[in-house]
Amino acid sequence: MHAEIVAIGTELLLGKTINTNVSYLGKKLVSLGIDLFYETTVDDNEIRLYTVLKRALHRSDVVITTGGLGPTVDDITLEIISQVIQKRLILNHAVLKNIREHFHRRQIAMPKENVRQALIPEGAKPLKNELGTAPGLIMSLEKKVLIALPGPPAEMKPMVERDAAPYLAKKFPANWVILSRLVKTTGLAESQVNQKVKDILNAKPPLNVGIYAHTEGVDLNITAKAKSKRQAEKLIKQIETKIRSRLKEYIYGQDAQSLEEVVAKTFKAKKKTIAIAESCTGGLISKRLTNISGSSQYFLLGIVAYSNQSKQFLLGIPQETLKKFGAVSKEVAYLLAVNIKQLAKTDLGLGVTGIAGPKGGTKEKPVGSVFIALATPRKILSRELHLHGDRNALRMRASQAALEMVRRYLVK
Ligand code: ATP
Repeated sequence: MHAEIVAIGTELLLGKTINTNVSYLGKKLVSLGIDLFYETTVDDNEIRLYTVLKRALHRSDVVITTGGLGPTVDDITLEIISQVIQKRLILNHAVLKNIREHFHRRQIAMPKENVRQALIPEGAKPLKNELGTAPGLIMSLEKKVLIALPGPPAEMKPMVERDAAPYLAKKFPANWVILSRLVKTTGLAESQVNQKVKDILNAKPPLNVGIYAHTEGVDLNITAKAKSKRQAEKLIKQIETKIRSRLKEYIYGQDAQSLEEVVAKTFKAKKKTIAIAESCTGGLISKRLTNISGSSQYFLLGIVAYSNQSKQFLLGIPQETLKKFGAVSKEVAYLLAVNIKQLAKTDLGLGVTGIAGPKGGTKEKPVGSVFIALATPRKILSRELHLHGDRNALRMRASQAALEMVRRYLVK
């Protein structure tokens, strides 16, 4: 038994709208124990939509469409569904009433085009749309199910939670569970992680291990399918232990945890404080730390010292140092860390300076050169990094490396 999603809308293929419905529905189906085997995105074209729906209903047991339920001429989903399943479109008075009430609440006269949205295939169960006019539909077709949902996520999700998911759970009771665990690493390139866990990535069903690289680091996703939650947890634990023993200190968190969340928790547990003087990251490190509520307990001061003058006058970096080594240098990062620590009277001081690009690089210090220093009560730790990516990615990577340096120090 498996499902297929058909996302309908020309704007999805033009890249104007990111297809977030698929990611949401994919997770939902996993939680219901239903395999998702296919996803097709198709434009608002009658022939192509007809072909895609016909194929989906032929090869999948559950077909979920999103989009194209609106009142305009390019909203063709219901018309094509009615052709594919060979059911007439019939005016549904309850749906029409809901559409009328929607306009009444907004004190707008209902355009006559909206009547079209109340024409639904014979035998279909309409799903109430609390936020818009397009109704959702559930159609039971012998052993298969076709569910049509509106495109806007805010309209689609409540229908899934309230109607579609409970319907599927009842119709196809899961006889197995799927559990996932995301192990998050930072500081290693994808190829380095791959090298360390190559054999684990070959895990066979009911286990699956995937590797995902992104700006913040490289994650390993373990998925297990089993008859019970306990069994799935056991399978995951075995692989997770292996992964942890290989990637050790590079692992900073798991599942939805962000690095800043982990750092925040560690600061609270260790009762330490920090102040940050950052240049190329433009406040990103301070922003990330203060994203976490309660951060005033440990984050006492942040200065974005962008110009040489501010480095000199606010943070006491001598003009000679700036001249001799350059604003982007190990020496300046060092002094930024030491001086901000002293200024804010914190346990730790973090200094970050670098070249975020795309301009400003030199042969000796190309774009992506970043110097980080962490002043601690006993010593000053420092790192020189050569990062890659565009300006945004570089700033993110630099902030990640700096936060990771703090985390590593705190957990020691
Ligand atoms: P409505 O009548 O409420 O607009 P609809 O079913 O006709 O519903 P569409 O016209 O297809 O929906 O899409 C409306 C908007 O919904 C899109 O412009 C887009 O912002 C969002 N949307 C549609 N499909 C998706 C999707 N797969 N993922 C994320 N957003 C989507």
